[in-house]
Amino acid sequence: DVETAIKVVVVGNGAVGKSSMIQRYCKGIFTKDYKKTIGVDFLERQIEVNNEDIRLMLWDTAGQEEFDAITKAYYRGAQACVLVFSTTDRQSFEAIESWKGKVEDECGDIPTVLVQNKIDLVEDAKVETEEADTLAKKLKLRFYRTSVKDNLNVEDVFRYLADKYLER
Ligand code: GDP
Ligand code: MG
Repeated sequence: DVETAIKVVVVGNGAVGKSSMIQRYCKGIFTKDYKKTIGVDFLERQIEVNNEDIRLMLWDTAGQEEFDAITKAYYRGAQACVLVFSTTDRQSFEAIESWKGKVEDECGDIPTVLVQNKIDLVEDAKVETEEADTLAKKLKLRFYRTSVKDNLNVEDVFRYLADKYLER
């Protein structure tokens, strides 16, 4: 019985909470200033889906996304994708379609989910609930609102991707 391993890429503009989400999901921690450990490409977590052990490998970037400099090696062999924007960053929302295009160019049509992070900062929202819903519909993506800080809905994101991957 060979264990299934899934490479998941987490993409979106800088500072939306990608590294924090990976840390939260794989290590159960949240820190205010998470800096990627040099030399570590991904963190992993094992979950069980339909009595099957699934190993999720969540690939992080070292901040190259801010310079539009993510290399092909990052995307290579990716089997699922999380597209993240932040509640408080309008630009990160407007960049989602472009990120989706990049992932499709490199990986084709893989299970993908749209995530609006930092919903704990809703008072300072720069994106309307309705426009986020509309984008999700337009892109035909499952949509989750998360707070990595408050540990809200983070598990659901990755469980959905694992389910979707196994459905193929
Ligand atoms: P990345 O550049 O996308 O990897 O973003 P980081 O994970 O480095 O996070 C950027 C900043 O946002 C950090 O100060 C995090 O602590 C903070 N952050 C991440 N997720 C949340 C969240 O859900 N709520 C709040 N309030 N802050 C968050
Ligand atoms: Mg990061």
